[in-house]
Amino acid sequence: MNIAIDGPAGAGKSTIARLAAQRLGFLYVDTGAMYRAIALYLLDAKTDIEDEDKLKSALDHIRINIAYEKDVQHVFLNLQDVSAEIRSEKVGNMASKVAALPEVRAKLLDLQRDIAAKNDVLMDGRDIGTNILPNAELKIYLTASVEVRAERRFRELKQMGGRPNLDVIKADIEQRDYQDMNREIAPLRQAEDAILVDSSDMTIDEVVNRIVTLAKERAAADADYAESDQD
Ligand code: C5P
Repeated sequence: MNIAIDGPAGAGKSTIARLAAQRLGFLYVDTGAMYRAIALYLLDAKTDIEDEDKLKSALDHIRINIAYEKDVQHVFLNLQDVSAEIRSEKVGNMASKVAALPEVRAKLLDLQRDIAAKNDVLMDGRDIGTNILPNAELKIYLTASVEVRAERRFRELKQMGGRPNLDVIKADIEQRDYQDMNREIAPLRQAEDAILVDSSDMTIDEVVNRIVTLAKERAAADADYAESDQD
């Protein structure tokens, strides 16, 4: 079974998807981490991404893999575990920029589909329900208001010991939404058959419960259908 969760930056997708996957016994695949790893390479190599030849040659030098340690996804860039390094705002903003490039998306498409073909996955990203797994048995579009998303990020950064600025965070999120929703290839949007979950006024537990319930309902409906087919 494949579950797709898409939605804008800061909607809590990764926390929620990880917990829901654990409860369902599914593999959690964070596709944003793959874009972030590519962004990290291009930032470190100071690649001019406007130059198509330079971009192509850089991409040829990039190998992305994922592996799991105690259910936690680790992302490897050329065999080096970069799971921690990719979490900065700088890498996130670059990821959003490079995710608009067709060469970058093409590079990750097969990897993502291959993992989903071999496992029960709960995959989160921006184009999973619309593009990567159009036949996913369950699709969720998880969102929250810009204000709520900015406040959540603000609290997170503060807890990590930083001195964040709420207005800057909000502007960053708005810009990332704009870039992700308005790019030509695989823009972020709700798939027609996706269920909208607005987490603005919901706790993490409530959202996880909702997704787990939807997944179980879907699995039961599929099992009923298979049984009636045999009659
Ligand atoms: O989800 P996360 O914030 O880690 O993703 C970083 C960026 O990668 C997003 O802003 C988005 O532009 C891009 N992305 C994408 N398609 C995905 C996952 C992430 O374009 N499936």
